[in-house]
Amino acid sequence: MNHTPKDDGTAMYVYNAKSAICEQIAEPVHFYIQLREVLEDLSLGIPLDFEDKYANLAQGSFAQSYTFTNTLEMEYHFRFTKNYFQFLLMNYLNSDPNVARCHCCGQYFIPKTRKSTLYCDRVMKDGKTCKEIAPAIIHKNAVDADPVLKVYDRTKHKMYKRYERAYYSLDQLPKGIYFEKYLEWREPAAEVRTKYLKGELTAEEALKIIEVKD
Ligand SMILES: [Zn+2]
Repeated sequence: MNHTPKDDGTAMYVYNAKSAICEQIAEPVHFYIQLREVLEDLSLGIPLDFEDKYANLAQGSFAQSYTFTNTLEMEYHFRFTKNYFQFLLMNYLNSDPNVARCHCCGQYFIPKTRKSTLYCDRVMKDGKTCKEIAPAIIHKNAVDADPVLKVYDRTKHKMYKRYERAYYSLDQLPKGIYFEKYLEWREPAAEVRTKYLKGELTAEEALKIIEVKD
């Protein structure tokens, strides 16, 4: 990885390299967000759009080298961090993975069989998995019918858009937020969503934390 300028020891270095360094730090974050979108599309059965939405994933490059001692060892060299992650992702997609989103906890998982599986095997409550506790909370699962889930999805989209607005700019745009801020909202909100689904919080209590009014 060599596309940030070399530190020449002068005070100008930080100034000159600033945006390149920030870009480097942001790359894995940006990849992470795109990965979530890929997983979402896969779990919904939406064909991945490599013409437009994921055009950046459709091709990449790396250099290869080998060494031979007793066996042949191959190495891949990537210039950009994101190229490495993208390559791993494309290898994964190449295996035609079956991705599902748990209707209970909302997290992604790989079902053990090809037939449609609604709930994952994560342990959620008292040693019980989503699959085991789901029947009790199944009436809360329809996002359209549930005010908390509806607000959660809507706010998540809003907060993500705010992050996206700040992504390409070092100076914050109006209402733009950094990834840290996005996580500051998302982590507790996701937790509250789960607690609500488990019946540990009322809709009112959950909305107080999930909703962002401005
Ligand atoms: Zn689950």
